[in-house]
Amino acid sequence: MDITPTAPRLLVVVAHPDDEAFGCGSVLAHATAHGFRSTVVCATRGELGEPAPGSGLTRTDLPAARERELRAACALLGVERVELLGYRDSGVDGDPEPGSLAAAEPDRLREQVARLVEEVRPDVVVTLDASDGHRDHAAMRDATLAALDDVSHRPAVTYLFCLARSLMTAFTAVDTLGTPDEEITHLVDVADLLDLRWRAIRTHASQVPPFDAMDPALQRGFLAVDRLRQVDPPWPGGPVADSWIPAVGTDHDPVHHTERKALR
Ligand SMILES: [Zn+2]
Repeated sequence: MDITPTAPRLLVVVAHPDDEAFGCGSVLAHATAHGFRSTVVCATRGELGEPAPGSGLTRTDLPAARERELRAACALLGVERVELLGYRDSGVDGDPEPGSLAAAEPDRLREQVARLVEEVRPDVVVTLDASDGHRDHAAMRDATLAALDDVSHRPAVTYLFCLARSLMTAFTAVDTLGTPDEEITHLVDVADLLDLRWRAIRTHASQVPPFDAMDPALQRGFLAVDRLRQVDPPWPGGPVADSWIPAVGTDHDPVHHTERKALR
């Protein structure tokens, strides 16, 4: 599909390189296939990720390698612009280091996201549900949702990219992780994007994807369906939707009903 200056726009806000592929990979691929221009905002360079065995990477090499992987995965997924906010990965616990995302002033982070929303003027915003309990994911989710109150351009719709509780329980045997399935408002079949999604995942060669530890059925559960929770405007209720693309347009380029139908 042609990419035109008036194409609809998607902004995906994440914390670490690989969140955009392990998490939102098929949202981005789906957006590209439907003519969206996408921007990925990533807060850190994933400094505290565990280098994959055999990658030959040290902690010192890791940030540059992970930035390259992020940019390569985004290119593969058709993302037009990647913005790094320059924080350090906080890791899952412990005292936050200076410069880490967990040490960031929430108002400053909110301002940074708001500035990008004003600049990009997205129709759709997607951020993480943070239901895996990682504090960096929660920081970006909270900053993104707070930023919506500060912007003159409010996106048509904002979603959380969800890890379903049923799948997280099956994977971890912990039943408090994941977004409760009944809170998920959108289930989008992205099975046709699986090959591309896997290529984007494998682009992050410095990391071992969690999917490698799953049996094929569970892998498919995580990767063949995108689960989103509409948070702004609040989900009005009713049956779960099968497309996240807004049915009515915005100030600059409506996504017409015909295109929405073509998705189904
Ligand atoms: Zn992450």
